Amino acid sequence: MKACNFCGNINFEKKFVQYIYKHNGQFLVVNNVPCEECKFCGEQYFKAEILKKIEKDFKEIYLYGKKTEKQVKVPVEEFVKL
Ligand SMILES: [Zn+2]
Repeated sequence: MKACNFCGNINFEKKFVQYIYKHNGQFLVVNNVPCEECKFCGEQYFKAEILKKIEKDFKEIYLYGKKTEKQVKVPVEEFVKL
């Protein structure tokens, strides 16, 4: 049986969540990604094959120009200027 790396709890809940992949200052937002969430501390665990899929998609978008379903503009601020 597996336990949460952070709190040691062994109860997890299957969920579909939004995953934000970051690499070299570039982002990919993927909706409805399956994960298991720790019922105690809320830490989310993703299967390696799922993360690999997202990484592959990220490359297809940024290296090979794959078109995505949606694009969002994200405002960026420096905290010291707020
Ligand atoms: Zn936990």
